[in-house]
Amino acid sequence: MPGRLEGKVAIITGAARGMGAATARRFAEEGAFTILTDVLAEDGAATARTLGPNAVFLLQDVSLEGSWEPVVEDALRRHGRIDILVNNAGILETGTIEHQARASWERVLGVNLIGAAMGVRAVVPAMKAQGSGSIINISSTDGLKGSNGLGAYAASKWGLRGYTKVAAHELGPFGIRVNSVHPGPVNTRIANPMDAPVEVLNPLFTDYPLQRLGSPEEVASLNLFLASDEASFITGAEIAVDGGMTAGRYMRLLPGAPDNL
Ligand code: NAD
Repeated sequence: MPGRLEGKVAIITGAARGMGAATARRFAEEGAFTILTDVLAEDGAATARTLGPNAVFLLQDVSLEGSWEPVVEDALRRHGRIDILVNNAGILETGTIEHQARASWERVLGVNLIGAAMGVRAVVPAMKAQGSGSIINISSTDGLKGSNGLGAYAASKWGLRGYTKVAAHELGPFGIRVNSVHPGPVNTRIANPMDAPVEVLNPLFTDYPLQRLGSPEEVASLNLFLASDEASFITGAEIAVDGGMTAGRYMRLLPGAPDNL
C-alpha cells in the first residue's frame, strides 16, 4: 500500500531530536524523502541514519542569513521538488519583562519567527512552480495565550501564528497551504530539560483535560495529516495538540458554590 506521503519531498528543521525527529520519522515511514536540518551536527546525522536511505541531514542554523539557499538547492538537486516544509526549529529563553535582555529577544525571534519566515520565503518559488505545497509552522499554546516569563517566546509564537495567516492568503492561490500547529507541553528537551520521568511530571497537569504531557509522536501525527493530501482544504488554520490545555483549567469549587460540578 502506498504511504500517505509517497514520493513527496519534505524539509523539517530542528529535526535532530524531539518532535522534529519524530515528524521526520513519521514522514519517512509514509514514503517521503526527508531532509532534516539542525544546528546539532552529530545528533542530526545520527537521526537521519536511522530513517534509511531516503533521509539526509544538513547542518543549518535557520536564523542565519543565507542558511536557507543551500538547503533548498540541495532538495531541488536531489529531487527536483519541495512538497512540505515543517518550520519546527525553536528555542526557549525565559525572563520576566524587566529582565529579559535585548540579545535574548533577538535570539528567540531570530530562530522562532524570522528563521521560519525565511524558510517560507525560500521554498515558495519551487512550490509555486509546482502549483502545490504544504507548510507547517510549529507555534505553541504560547501562541494562543500568555504565560509569565515567556515574553520573547510568546511574541515569537504569536508572531508565527499571525504570519501563517498572511502566508495562507498570499500562497493559497498558488495551491500552497500554510497552517500553524500549537503543541502544549510535550516531553522533549525544551519542556523537560532534566529528562524527568513522565510519571513525575504528569501530576503537574491534572487541571487540564488529558492530565499529562504529550509525546513528540502525537505532534508528528498532526503534522503528517497537515502535510498529506488528506488536509487538502485546510489552510490558514491554527490547530492545538495540547491535551486540552487551551480549553482552560478545571474549575475548582468556590466556598458556597453548588457542589454538583
Ligand atoms: P527540542 O529542543 O528537542 O527540539 C528543538 C530542535 O531545534 C533541537 O534539535 C535544536 O537543536 C533545534 N534548533 C534550535 N535552534 C536552531 C536553529 N537556529 N537552527 C536549526 N535548528 C535549531 O524541543 P521540541 O519540543 O522538539 O521543539 C520543537 C518545536 O516545538 C519548537 O519550535 C518549540 O518551540 C515547539 N514547542 C515545543 C513544546 C514542548 O512542550 N516541547 C511546546 C510548544 C511548542
